[in-house]
Amino acid sequence: MVFGMYLSKIKSFIFQEPQNKNESPKVAVVLRMSCLLLMLYLFSTGIGFAITKHPYLAVFSVLFLILYAYTFYCSYQDKMSSAFMLLNLNTLLWVIMFYVIFGESTGVQHFIFALILVDLLLERQHPLALILGLYAVRVALYIGRMTCLPLAPEAMLGHLVIYMYILSVVLECATVLFTGIYFTKDAFQMESRLQDYNEELRRVASTDPLTQIWNRFSMLEYVEKCLKKYHKGEMQFMSLAIGDIDFFKRVNDTYGHECGDEVLRTLAHLFDMETRGGVGAVARWGGEEFLFLFENKNGDEAWTELSQIQTKINRLDIPYEGQVHHMTMTFGLTEYDFHLSLDENIKLADDKLYKGKENGRDRIVY
Ligand code: GH3
Ligand code: MG
Ligand code: MG
Repeated sequence: MVFGMYLSKIKSFIFQEPQNKNESPKVAVVLRMSCLLLMLYLFSTGIGFAITKHPYLAVFSVLFLILYAYTFYCSYQDKMSSAFMLLNLNTLLWVIMFYVIFGESTGVQHFIFALILVDLLLERQHPLALILGLYAVRVALYIGRMTCLPLAPEAMLGHLVIYMYILSVVLECATVLFTGIYFTKDAFQMESRLQDYNEELRRVASTDPLTQIWNRFSMLEYVEKCLKKYHKGEMQFMSLAIGDIDFFKRVNDTYGHECGDEVLRTLAHLFDMETRGGVGAVARWGGEEFLFLFENKNGDEAWTELSQIQTKINRLDIPYEGQVHHMTMTFGLTEYDFHLSLDENIKLADDKLYKGKENGRDRIVY
């Protein structure tokens, strides 16, 4: 319980946002975590040096540790780039020093690779130059090792070498794991958030906000697709209808705009249901006008579908504030003429709709 509380306090301290809001919190967290892990290494080796009576080495470990502590402190101030530079310089300094003294037996040289990973993710301006520089240091160390022997013979350190080697493997691994997991986890989260956001954006852009069915934009996209299919020979016919609610203004005037909205929503829901499963497609085309497109259906077939929809409209109860409303609609239907443009085809359907209105409404003119 108490341990959990401390752990969450430490976590929130490490994950604290940097002072400068322009700085990336991710950079700050990786910097802090790297500092802590390297401090842990120096602290442990410092104790090892003290126990095995190597006071100078213990003092150096403490000095480097203090430098990391300062780097850690900088990550909370408005000094992120200084912290980043210090992390690199300090690590290089003691890795080179330990390497010159002990050679490869303590495994400190591998810290350079952990540092490369950290730099690769944190450095924005010259990542390649920095990483090539670190590789150059690694190669220089190797060449130096080929020509000169380590200052301290392995026997001088005894079991401390094994201890330092295991410690370096564990902490290098921890640095690489933390940095890698922290960054990729975040990247996956960002990617999936971006996908959700894109889908939502697409949905909002393609849907009519009142009725939640397609808007004009989506229908135009769909018509484009159908026309492509026709030109590829994948489709022979297509029919188009414009439907307009009869005496809709009366609903608004008598029962209020809200009631009119409810009528639009209920009818749109019915059209959505009735055009599913390949029957056709529907969009809110204007105020109380709906455009229907019947893919792969000639005029007669579309008429049959539309008649069924019309029957359902006439039977539809639209309840609103204790009253039930009934609506009728007039349709202008035309088999799509592929020699004409979409606008010209819509005009043909519109003219028929107008005729239907003139001749008493509640009908399909074909
Ligand atoms: P007709 O049978 O000739 O089509 O008569 P009508 O009353 O339906 O035709 P008119 O074009 O005169 O009226 C359409 C009305 O639709 C006018 C407008 O205020 C209303 N309207 C348009 N969009 C909306 C909307 O989103 N919500 C509501 N409540 N009303 C709308
Ligand atoms: Mg109208
Ligand atoms: Mg109308």
